[in-house]
Amino acid sequence: MKCSICGKEIETTFLGKIKGNYRKKNGKLYAVCSDCFKKGL
Ligand SMILES: [Zn+2]
Repeated sequence: MKCSICGKEIETTFLGKIKGNYRKKNGKLYAVCSDCFKKGL
């Protein structure tokens, strides 16, 4: 899965969870990496 902001590949844990966060925008769910999430993007 890629970050929807910077396009960087987001690592996933062995449970399949992304090492990042999801952000909801316009009713759609976007995956963002932890770096972009920290920056508040
Ligand atoms: Zn990112």
